[in-house]
Amino acid sequence: MASDFAQLVKQQVDIVKIIGDYVRLKKAGAQNLSGLCPFHKEKSPSFSVHATRQFFHCFGCGVSGDVFSFIQKIENVSFPEAVRFVAQKCGIPLPKREFSSEEEAQEGRQRAKLLELHELATAWFEEQLRSPEGALAREYLTGRGLKPEEIQKFRIGYAPESFHALRERLQSVADQEALRLSGLFAFKEQEDGKPGPLYSRFRKRVTFPIANESGRVIAFTARALEAGEKAGPKYLNSPETPLYSKGNVLFNLDKARQAIREMGYALLVEGQMDCISVYLAGVKGVVATSGTAFTEAHTRLLSRYTKRVVVNFDPDDAGSKAAEKAIALLTEEDFEVRIVTLDGGLDPDRYIREHGAQAYFAAIRGAKRLPDFLIERARQLFPPVTAAAKVEALNFLLPHIRRIPNRITRVEFATDAAQKLGIDSAMVREELKEAAVKRRDSLSQTVPALSEAEKVLLRAFAAAPSDPVFQAAIAGFDAEEAHFEGLTIASILKKLRVRTAVDPMGAVDDPVENSMLAQVLLGESEPVDVEHVAAAIETLRHRYFERRQRELRAAIAEAERRSDSAAVVQLTAEKLSIDRALRDSKHFS
Ligand SMILES: [Zn+2]
Repeated sequence: MASDFAQLVKQQVDIVKIIGDYVRLKKAGAQNLSGLCPFHKEKSPSFSVHATRQFFHCFGCGVSGDVFSFIQKIENVSFPEAVRFVAQKCGIPLPKREFSSEEEAQEGRQRAKLLELHELATAWFEEQLRSPEGALAREYLTGRGLKPEEIQKFRIGYAPESFHALRERLQSVADQEALRLSGLFAFKEQEDGKPGPLYSRFRKRVTFPIANESGRVIAFTARALEAGEKAGPKYLNSPETPLYSKGNVLFNLDKARQAIREMGYALLVEGQMDCISVYLAGVKGVVATSGTAFTEAHTRLLSRYTKRVVVNFDPDDAGSKAAEKAIALLTEEDFEVRIVTLDGGLDPDRYIREHGAQAYFAAIRGAKRLPDFLIERARQLFPPVTAAAKVEALNFLLPHIRRIPNRITRVEFATDAAQKLGIDSAMVREELKEAAVKRRDSLSQTVPALSEAEKVLLRAFAAAPSDPVFQAAIAGFDAEEAHFEGLTIASILKKLRVRTAVDPMGAVDDPVENSMLAQVLLGESEPVDVEHVAAAIETLRHRYFERRQRELRAAIAEAERRSDSAAVVQLTAEKLSIDRALRDSKHFS
């Protein structure tokens, strides 16, 4: 059933490709790759993926698992959803939709209904824009330089003044609960605590649909056509709904994703009108935060497509603050950031309308590297003519420099800053030292060192149960279990021995053991074979005999002190047999 299908999918996908969409992976060994962990904040990569064993593991935060657990975690979905997600991504046809639980089926139906409502609402808003009542909205859009086909491309619409027209349009396809959940309506809570009648959230506004990455509309942002208190805020967004979580969505990413890959960078702007203008001017890899703060989730979203971002926010105060936050987050996540500043303090939309697309392209090409931009800003704010001003300028720059995870980039920035501010660069580097103190991750420190033989055995035990290597290891283990007692890896071996699944990582739940196993599997340079296993078992037996020999020597001395001759005879007999065994085992002595 579902688990069979999961197995089938797992056999056909490559975890490196799937994870590679989220994490920039670099080759780190014969069979493993590493990158910055998407599940915790880090500056140096402790996240590894094993290409042949098809699992991932983070030595920083301890997350670990197979391709499905990765998707479950990063996309925040259930196991069946993760299987479907991976299957679809790899073009594996899905079996007839099967739901693991009634709850999930319910959730699936609800999402489908909400998507349907958004699609219907989008079409209805588009219709309203073409109606006589939409004249004012059309005028506004024409005034912003949009042609009818461009309005159509972005599915811009108009929400009329009516409180109930949209509800009347939608209530034949959905019940009150679905309408309420859609976020398209507002309501007042009644005295009994129940929601009152639903009325249109967006009224007398131009509507811009917000789509998810696959282009389905999941929310709206709507601009008021009138100013003033009665009209409410200039921009009104959908509330958080089961479909829409504002920190997780970038406006236009569905249309921009391909272009971002082609351009090798993403252009990040503030408003959706800026975004549309820039897109129509020809820079297609453009996305907008669209009235919400830039978040860490946004950096993750972008890093699936690129690690280079050109930021072009509005030059006003709010825009500068928003830009500063976005830049800080992007820098921390090791993005290469460039900044565009447009002449005359214009936003991208107005700049393009006043100066044309070519001038805007030139501005993008002239985008300043973040360090240059910041140093220039520091020099403007604190002209470095006096010693005090130089210190102030440096203090302005230090937090930005400290944020850079890459040491080389950090030092370059610092040296450059020192030179341009006329400060001794040794002094700047000294200031930075405290920031450079490395936070070693706790887990890898607690992982004990293992001998080669123990590593070989772990690798063999981690092979698929049908693998001859696994079977050889098990046979050796069962025949000589006593010899493995007291080994650091004994408990892991036992867990791997009795596991039912192919996946070894899932069988070892203790975090330290899990980390130990991951480290061993990731450090594998060549696959182990049956001979390696035999040699490893021999070595471990030898070690056991040596250990036992020492123990017996001590025990015999102790028995002699007690004048316990019976014990002396028995212990000596055992010691003689071990001495013999050690003489016989020619290897590894
Ligand atoms: Zn991690």
